[in-house]
Amino acid sequence: RSSAEKFEFQAEVSRLMDIIINSLYSNKDIFLRELISNASDALDKIRFLSLTDKEVLGEGDTAKLEIQIKLDKEKKILSIRDRGIGMTKEDLIKNLGTIAKSGTSAFVEKMQSGGDLNLIGQFGVGFYSVYLVADYVEVISKHNDDKQYVWESKADGAFAISEDTWNEPLGRGTEIRLHLRDEAKEYLEEDKLKDLVKKYSEFINFPIYLWTTKEVDVEVPADEEESSEEEESTPEAKEDEDTEEDEEKKPKTKTIKETTSEWELLNDVKAVWLRSPKEVTDEEYSKFYHSLAKDFGDEKPMSWSHFTAEGDVEFKALLFVPPKAPHDLYESYYNNNKSNLKLYVRRVFISDEFDDLLPKYLNFLKGIVDSDTLPLNVSREMLQQHSSLKTIKKKLIRKALDMIRKIAEEDPDEYSNKDKTDEEKSEMAEKKGQYAKFWNEFGKSIKLGIIEDATNRNRLAKLLRFESTKSDGKLASLDEYISRMKPGQKDIFYITGSSKEQLEKSPFLERLTKKNYEVIFFTDPVDEYLMQYLMDYEDKKFQNVSKEGLKLGKDSNKQAYMRGKRVLEINPRHPIIKELRDKVAQDNESEGLKQTARLVYQTALMESGFNLPDPKEFASS
Ligand code: ADP
Ligand code: MG
Repeated sequence: RSSAEKFEFQAEVSRLMDIIINSLYSNKDIFLRELISNASDALDKIRFLSLTDKEVLGEGDTAKLEIQIKLDKEKKILSIRDRGIGMTKEDLIKNLGTIAKSGTSAFVEKMQSGGDLNLIGQFGVGFYSVYLVADYVEVISKHNDDKQYVWESKADGAFAISEDTWNEPLGRGTEIRLHLRDEAKEYLEEDKLKDLVKKYSEFINFPIYLWTTKEVDVEVPADEEESSEEEESTPEAKEDEDTEEDEEKKPKTKTIKETTSEWELLNDVKAVWLRSPKEVTDEEYSKFYHSLAKDFGDEKPMSWSHFTAEGDVEFKALLFVPPKAPHDLYESYYNNNKSNLKLYVRRVFISDEFDDLLPKYLNFLKGIVDSDTLPLNVSREMLQQHSSLKTIKKKLIRKALDMIRKIAEEDPDEYSNKDKTDEEKSEMAEKKGQYAKFWNEFGKSIKLGIIEDATNRNRLAKLLRFESTKSDGKLASLDEYISRMKPGQKDIFYITGSSKEQLEKSPFLERLTKKNYEVIFFTDPVDEYLMQYLMDYEDKKFQNVSKEGLKLGKDSNKQAYMRGKRVLEINPRHPIIKELRDKVAQDNESEGLKQTARLVYQTALMESGFNLPDPKEFASS
């Protein structure tokens, strides 16, 4: 078109498009998911604006918050239309081509080293997946603040923008027209699209319609040639009317084929988080996670927590621990306050970039919060200041840390499971190694939490894992360390350095291992910093063994006894305690362990009403 303005794609975007066009990736379906997700985002945005200004929605059909999909088999066009916020001319230029997002180059790199194209949405460049199936794409868009424009590109390094003077006015929103490649003809089949929408868009909170065409049998008077023009009424209603009339007036009829078209609703828009946790299956949670997090890898989330908070501040929440950390989790850590939770107020999406809904160190969690207490008709800024947010945050942290603790508790690698029934064991087998996996992906976040969150420091320290001189190549916890402490040992010993191999040669270490003390290896760069904040745990001080003047002082029998008692108080049903009791019974363990075990055992006896024995009696044995 002569009036079109031409633009070049930003270089990284151009490279990305080349990769997509030339990709041999077989799962081309994903483009539809990305387009529906964009349509849904755009609808969320206009709905949010309408909370404070009803006018923005417009009137009639324009006000309908929905998504429509249409197929044109002859022209080989698939179009997806939403009545969302739309894009101004400037938006089209920036969002679809000239400004590369931070994820663009990261995704290009990933692709060049054989990464999975399926993850495109996580990198914020999902739109370009349209070129998996189309060689020419038009984006028609109308924003309330601008005229209607057409963006178009054949992915040849350039795109064009023209004021739209020839298409039907959209009212508001965006229509994406994909001119499908020959190899992608399957996306013109209604059944294929129905399957895909069901598969990918189950959790989209707006109705998605497909324009479907059916052949139906229609009875018409025998002497009439064709049924007149197509009517808007449903085929059933039409059939009924005709038949009744026919029976009364003209008994002679014949059956002819007629095609009728209608909008068919493809999804069910009941939000998962509003359902009772008992009714939602694991598979549904898993699928919901994938759609929420735009994480379409094969892995299930590691864990989730679905709950309702009651009291002064009411809300429902669903939190997930993803199977993997996103590529940029710690890159932007210090200048990014935005949580990954989607905030809804009474089922209306407000924001997925809300500051301070969770503390920074929990930014790896995904999820949604839906509050009935927060006001709907105020600006985002005012909402941000609302006093209820503090309460919500506090409860979310508590639930999040509980959820993480449970990953450890349910992992058979973490604790002995000899008291478990066979059924429990087989159930647990699935969770084997989960906590080590969690630690591998998100351990650094727990450490950052210990540094930043003084209120929950002890809870977080419980989640800490490390290798030590006695952990045997596995990960150990502070509770385990304490259970293995030598009689009379007061402090928790650690050493910091760049690797375990380097530390094992340290002369400082030898001094302690000779005496059979356990020493923790802290080898992460963040650990030095961490240890400035983690001063003690369960009343035991941390001691850096490479510091001058380290004392290996012993505590008295009385103190040793008190320690055993405390271990028991912390968690009387802890599997370690049970294990220790068993070991006392077998009486064949190393002296150190036997001592501690005995202390704990005596405490257990005392707790159950036996007389308190003199600690001296067993201290010498
Ligand atoms: P993301 O959705 O992660 O931001 P995309 O590549 O899918 O990345 O989309 C890029 C941008 O283009 C979006 O952020 C949005 O601003 C704009 N956009 C895409 N589709 C639409 C749409 N249907 N309506 C309005 N804006 C859209
Ligand atoms: Mg997108």
